Amino acid sequence: MNFIPYGRQNITEEDIDAVVNVLKSDYLTQGPKVPEFENAIKEHCNVEYALAMNSATSALHVACLALDVGKDDIVWTTPITFVASANCALYCGATVDFVDIDPKTYNLSIQALREKLQAAKIESKLPKVVIPVHLCGQSCDMEAIYELSQEYGFSIIEDASHAIGGSYQNKPIGNCQYSDITIFSFHPVKIITTAEGGVATTNSDKLAQKMDLLRSHGITRDTELMTHKPDGPWYYQQIDLGFNYRMTEMQAALGVSQIERLQSITKSRHKIAQRYNEQLACLPVITPFQIQESYSGLHLYVIRLKLDEIKPTHLEVFNSLRAANIGVNLHYIPVHLQPYYQKHFDFQTGDFPQAEQYYKEAISLPLYPDLTKEQQNYIVATLEGILRND
Ligand SMILES: *Cc1c(COP(=O)(O)O)cnc(C)c1O
Repeated sequence: MNFIPYGRQNITEEDIDAVVNVLKSDYLTQGPKVPEFENAIKEHCNVEYALAMNSATSALHVACLALDVGKDDIVWTTPITFVASANCALYCGATVDFVDIDPKTYNLSIQALREKLQAAKIESKLPKVVIPVHLCGQSCDMEAIYELSQEYGFSIIEDASHAIGGSYQNKPIGNCQYSDITIFSFHPVKIITTAEGGVATTNSDKLAQKMDLLRSHGITRDTELMTHKPDGPWYYQQIDLGFNYRMTEMQAALGVSQIERLQSITKSRHKIAQRYNEQLACLPVITPFQIQESYSGLHLYVIRLKLDEIKPTHLEVFNSLRAANIGVNLHYIPVHLQPYYQKHFDFQTGDFPQAEQYYKEAISLPLYPDLTKEQQNYIVATLEGILRND
């Protein structure tokens, strides 16, 4: 069997044509394709603003800045996420802390969040922003997090890097009903891709304007934002310290072409996941648990090994799958155990026990639209052989 990655982009002839057409056009950057992609996102999410950027990491950074995260602030997220969900706060000079995960959904635990907020209030160490991550594409309990935000006065950035195409309470993820800003990633392993790329959505005029400035040097050509009348037609003003986080036209054209297939891509992910659910039901593994309110974007299919029912260790199962050319992965190493976080913030092993237990058992199986039935059968049969240790 050829190598099977855990995730892979789905590229059609239409996608290729869309990119090539941009290359033959007048604009490789700052042309019509980025607004077109943003409009497609707005329409899909039913949200007021969508701002495309060169990555979700960039979008998380400017989202934090737009919410005025600074050096005296604390930002909370989950330890089971990609490091970017936490790093964005550090870029702003803020401190990061974590909320342990729910042992069933692997998303940030509402009970742990509530308890941590109660304790933080007493110590006057409440977070300015909480960043829930929709792990694997399954929405967090956003209504509960929103209610807590009203009680304790924090802002919310949804890291929906795994979740475009999914919904919560029958509304598309990204509509920001229960958050200030939502972030999507379009890295090739994610649900749809722009090679590199990300988007921030919001319903707030003020946040959209701030993120728009920050993604392009803090420069404006809008006379209403300027301190005085333009000197001439060449004129622009830098009114904030921004970055070059812009998405290119080639990326946006790919995004426009990809998002047309979002529904069918999400459906095929569900079909594959459903087959895994059925085929793995009798194996000593825990298959993904889904809350009723969420329809997952299904970026990832994570199983947990029932280690007390099998002979091989987690590492042995993982190594055997890799040796069989199955590109399993582990999402994620708890962020608080990363050397950088241990060195700078004094986090210890044992701080977030549910996250650490998850890390000892989790394996992400391959999941992407072009995964064939034969490949999937091979993955399941190989896993079964390893778990039965024969
Ligand atoms: C992929 C990912 C990011 C970063 O996305 P990029 O577009 O690669 O910058 C952030 N958060 C989560 C949860 C991710 O999975």
